[in-house]
Amino acid sequence: MKILRSVSIEKKEIDELICNKCKKAFKKGIEFPTMKIHSFEVAFRFGGKYSLEKVEFELCEDCLSDLFDSFEIEPIRGVWSKIRTS
Ligand SMILES: [Zn+2]
Repeated sequence: MKILRSVSIEKKEIDELICNKCKKAFKKGIEFPTMKIHSFEVAFRFGGKYSLEKVEFELCEDCLSDLFDSFEIEPIRGVWSKIRTS
């Protein structure tokens, strides 16, 4: 038999997202559904400058557009549900 007791668990929610590049802030509620800011997580493999590190950051769409514009080769674009991940 297990004797159980109630415990409180702190739950954290995102209240605001801030673009790491330009510091533009997007508050939860009105601005989140527009999806004008995106979260990224990069897990680096062994070797190289960021060996085995995990880097998390947010970029707003304006900064993403600037990044895409800086590419020598256009990124692959399409409807997200139809982009292959493998
Ligand atoms: Zn930005």
